[in-house]
Amino acid sequence: MIAQKMIKYVEGSSVTRAMFEEGKKMAAQYGAENVYDFSLGNPSVEPPAAVKNAICEILEQESPCYVHGYMNNSGYETVREAIASSLNKRFGTSFGEKNILMTVGAAGGLNVVLKTLLDPEDEVIAFAPYFGEYNNYVANFDGKMVVVAPNPPEFQPNVAEFETKITPKTKAVIINNPNNPTGVVYSEETIRALAAVMEKKQKEYGTAIYLIADEPYRELAYDGVEVPYLTKYYDNTIVGYSYSKSLSLPGERIGYLVIPDEVDDFENVICAANVANRILGFVNAPSLMQLAVAKCLDEQTDVAAYDRNRTMLLNALTQYGYEVVKPEGAFYLWVKTLEEDDSAFVARAKEYNLLVVPGSSFMCPGYIRIAYCVDPEMIKRSLPAFEKLAKSYENE
Ligand code: PLP
Repeated sequence: MIAQKMIKYVEGSSVTRAMFEEGKKMAAQYGAENVYDFSLGNPSVEPPAAVKNAICEILEQESPCYVHGYMNNSGYETVREAIASSLNKRFGTSFGEKNILMTVGAAGGLNVVLKTLLDPEDEVIAFAPYFGEYNNYVANFDGKMVVVAPNPPEFQPNVAEFETKITPKTKAVIINNPNNPTGVVYSEETIRALAAVMEKKQKEYGTAIYLIADEPYRELAYDGVEVPYLTKYYDNTIVGYSYSKSLSLPGERIGYLVIPDEVDDFENVICAANVANRILGFVNAPSLMQLAVAKCLDEQTDVAAYDRNRTMLLNALTQYGYEVVKPEGAFYLWVKTLEEDDSAFVARAKEYNLLVVPGSSFMCPGYIRIAYCVDPEMIKRSLPAFEKLAKSYENE
């Protein structure tokens, strides 16, 4: 018999699984080209050629026992040094290899941080809408999720409400910028305001409130929009980065944490994070991928390809009468549903072979998320379906 605690996780993940199965069934029934699957955040742009070249070079030139062996739980020193220097060049920071911990993607990194920081009942604040897996990651370590309500129409965090949600039990705050699911980039003004509130509350309660910056979409920003680097605004910041989207390597499970010297209780945090990486069973991040990404630090995914998809969908959906939040980053479009119940709207969309995710999955009913990291030809084919879906509400 499975653990009681697992039952709710299994129930929770059945929605995603059902959607995935439904997509496969629909493709078999209607033909794959007539089903428009916008449900997954799986990059459609291929990894840069430099990734394959780096992997081949490493396999040809390095000793197999080095390439495939264990190393320090934090990762190869050379890789961590290279990442620290690259960040310093980009953001004017002063990290060294001791500040970098290689992780099994952003998901692995978040679990390492939360295991490092949380005692049972410690509170973690997130701003709705947010990536639903945070609920599971926090529950993994018996923490308590505290939600700041959505703030339409711009979906910048509501700073005034945030302040009221901080208590002496608040251990961490998660910020995901650019944001999944809204595509919004939190502005420098917002970040400064959030940081000021956290500084004030740390002093008031005499506690350490860690800011966790979840940044898998950092490189995906459009129209020249700047994504603030959070360690510069708030000392007690830990950054979680991932190459899943920036180099299109989600299946390879590679990312890193930045734990700056300024973080509260730095020596213990870094040491505990190292141990957490090991005892969560990751042991270390995938070795070949660590070496490969270190050779690709100046590489970029084809942001322009996502930008074209963004523009095509945004223009078309706006023309059909949908209320859409203009995304400045990531590869998601956040759209108000044409009826109150987002699950009913998603079910109606399915009648037009459109697969999208209800906002309730991100703690924000009344919206849907459209992942536009897809073949642009599929977007073109799907537009009449979006138009018919909108029309179907016109006489109601
Ligand atoms: N955080 C957010 C906001 C995400 O959207 C995702 C994946 O989609 C992750 C974390 C996990 O990413 P990774 O593949 O790096 O574990």
